[in-house]
Amino acid sequence: MSALAAGGGAAADGAPEATAAPTRREKRRERKKERRRRARRQAAARARAAVEAEAPAVDPEEERRLLEIQEAEAAAESERALRAFEDAERRWLEAAAARAAEKAAAAAAEEDARAAEASARNKPKDGQGNQSEEDSEWEYVEDGPAEIIWKGNEIIVKKKKVKVPKGSKEKLQIQEEDRPTSNPLPPQSVALAAHRREPSLSAQEVLDKVAQETPNFGTEQDKAHCPFHLKTGACRFGLRCSRVHFYPDKSITLLMKNMYNGPGLALEQDEGLEFTDEEIEQSYEEFYEDVHTEFLKFGELVNFKVCRNGSFHLRGNVYVHYKSLDSALLAYSSMNGRYFAGKQITCEFVAVTRWKAAICDMFTWSCL
Ligand SMILES: [Zn+2]
Repeated sequence: MSALAAGGGAAADGAPEATAAPTRREKRRERKKERRRRARRQAAARARAAVEAEAPAVDPEEERRLLEIQEAEAAAESERALRAFEDAERRWLEAAAARAAEKAAAAAAEEDARAAEASARNKPKDGQGNQSEEDSEWEYVEDGPAEIIWKGNEIIVKKKKVKVPKGSKEKLQIQEEDRPTSNPLPPQSVALAAHRREPSLSAQEVLDKVAQETPNFGTEQDKAHCPFHLKTGACRFGLRCSRVHFYPDKSITLLMKNMYNGPGLALEQDEGLEFTDEEIEQSYEEFYEDVHTEFLKFGELVNFKVCRNGSFHLRGNVYVHYKSLDSALLAYSSMNGRYFAGKQITCEFVAVTRWKAAICDMFTWSCL
């Protein structure tokens, strides 16, 4: 009994909580001990009865001593179990304390980091800090049409750089794709509905239609339509012309204005002064070879003409008349905007198909 009390004292030293409120395990052990004690007493009583029955002369003193030894053994065993339990509990408490300390340290470190970040953010913005913040929130992307710089034989394509918030680049590209390539008719307009209903007419069909509706179409008496533009696809007055110019959205004939700018096309007063006739002819022939070969890639040609001695608006004009509209469309999409001999080519669809009317002082080669 005294040993148990000592054990209890040890428990109080090691883990104060354990004695303050006896755990379920301790209660259970207490009950077990009580049961065992009772069982032993009963067994002893039975043994005494048996001995008394067998040999009436039994020393009660000896029997009491035996019982005391048994009880001491039981107490020692229960004390060992209690010690083991206390050890385990102490270890667990130590581990728990270590874990808590570790957690607290981590929390403190995190708090420190947060405080440092906050102070950095609240710090008055000097140039350096401001710059780094901008870098993290903004980026530079290329936008808009490319600027093309012609340097000798080298073409430099440079795009304007635009500063945008980070992450908006994707959106910008989608917008670029969605953007129409031509000026479309507004969806709610009557014109679009009409346009959708009717199949679009070819340049020649439009001209025929207008010619039917207009008396003296394209003649001196026709004051509405520009006869010169009808014949050549070009007019000395350009956009300032008071008469109607037809600009078909597709045609079998392409016009590249002022594409040829070699010798022979200098201003009238210089003409023939710098180049001999042979040089001019050679230059033309080289140009013809190159350009004709290029346009022949897109389909069969009906006519290929280079205007040579006309006035300024006709000078160096190249007319390419295809057999099929598909070839003309392909040539247009392939050649428009490309560079040839250091000059950007601008293609136009023209309604010119009657070459006898167009040829006044044109220099032509037959390609048939
Ligand atoms: Zn005109």
